[in-house]
Amino acid sequence: MRVGCPKEIKTREYRVGLTPDSVLELTRAGHEVMIETNAGSAIDFSDHEYRAAGASIVDTPEEIFEKAELIVKVKEPQLNECAMLSEGQTLFTYLHLAADKPQAEALVESGCMAIAYETVTSDQGGLPLLKPMSEVAGRMSIQVGANALQMASGGRGVLLGGVPGVSAANVMILGGGVSGFHAAQMAVGMHADVTIFDRSLNRLEELDNHFGNRVQTVYSTTGAIAEAVKDADLVIGAVLVPGGSAPKLITRDMLSTMKKGAVLVDIAIDQGGCFETSKATTHDNPTYEVDGIVHYCVANMPGAVARTSTFALNNRTIPHVVNIANMGPKKAMKADRHLRNGLNVADGWITHEAVAEALGMKM
Ligand code: NAD
Repeated sequence: MRVGCPKEIKTREYRVGLTPDSVLELTRAGHEVMIETNAGSAIDFSDHEYRAAGASIVDTPEEIFEKAELIVKVKEPQLNECAMLSEGQTLFTYLHLAADKPQAEALVESGCMAIAYETVTSDQGGLPLLKPMSEVAGRMSIQVGANALQMASGGRGVLLGGVPGVSAANVMILGGGVSGFHAAQMAVGMHADVTIFDRSLNRLEELDNHFGNRVQTVYSTTGAIAEAVKDADLVIGAVLVPGGSAPKLITRDMLSTMKKGAVLVDIAIDQGGCFETSKATTHDNPTYEVDGIVHYCVANMPGAVARTSTFALNNRTIPHVVNIANMGPKKAMKADRHLRNGLNVADGWITHEAVAEALGMKM
């Protein structure tokens, strides 16, 4: 099969759909791969590396959209990209169609088959192609939180791990799922004093078994959070209520009970945020202050570490890409119901029930 990977065109998107290693997996299986020139240059994947893996380098996205049977990307196609897609082509990428009707209509119109990373499932449960980005955001949250605690960032001038003779910082993690777990790993590694709050007792038990006495686990109630936040230096918001917007676990009133220069990192900002005072920020201007409390609310945290994120994503996507290329999309989906769950658009229709419902479009 002819597989194509264009350069991402969304502002400040440096990730790329296929790494040179992923290209090699495909070319060794006998497939032809086309990569747009400089598709990975921002994260140090040169055209030369792609050529060495067997890809041909093309100058324009038009060539890829015209000739490739399978197009592998990272972000949802922009409208000009949708206009280049056609019947007989398969698109494999993050789509997030439920909140983007113009894109949904453009994909339906194109006649292509679109498989969305975010709705592919797995036997282990959860959403395996979203997981790596939560892992990245969770680990990164402690790094950005540590930075925001420094004086120059407006923080209270506290080192996460303290030093011998000086207490470590107090880190609260709200939500002990994928991102909360990875945040805890980093915070523990930096010798902070860590407490994880969750609503799932099963999850708290798993975390307790994993971390032992290196973290405290607390059942998440408004009262428990209100009490603990008074002593927190850094709070990580990592909750998710599937299908719903994030609950506001820290209210504006609570901010006045917190220590001046404490830091809130809201990973859940992409679902509206779990602090009442959260508003989405960008990597260019990631923090702001409310009532003396520093807020970090970047909605696409993995974009800041685009090289790591690209590898993490490719580790999860490449087995599916190879299967689609080997078998063709229809047979690959027939053989793997989890990949089939990723199908959002086919033959001029929305094919995913939840997506169709959210968009108010027919299936
Ligand atoms: P997850 O489902 O693995 O974990 C969420 C956890 O929150 C669960 O353990 C759940 O029990 C817990 N929870 C639910 N309600 C709670 C409450 N009231 N109090 C305490 N815990 C509660 O989710 P995840 O993959 O870790 O994702 C968390 C959020 O991060 C999502 O909104 C996701 O979209 C977002 N995210 C953001 C970025 C970013 O760049 N900002 C990147 C990746 C993921």
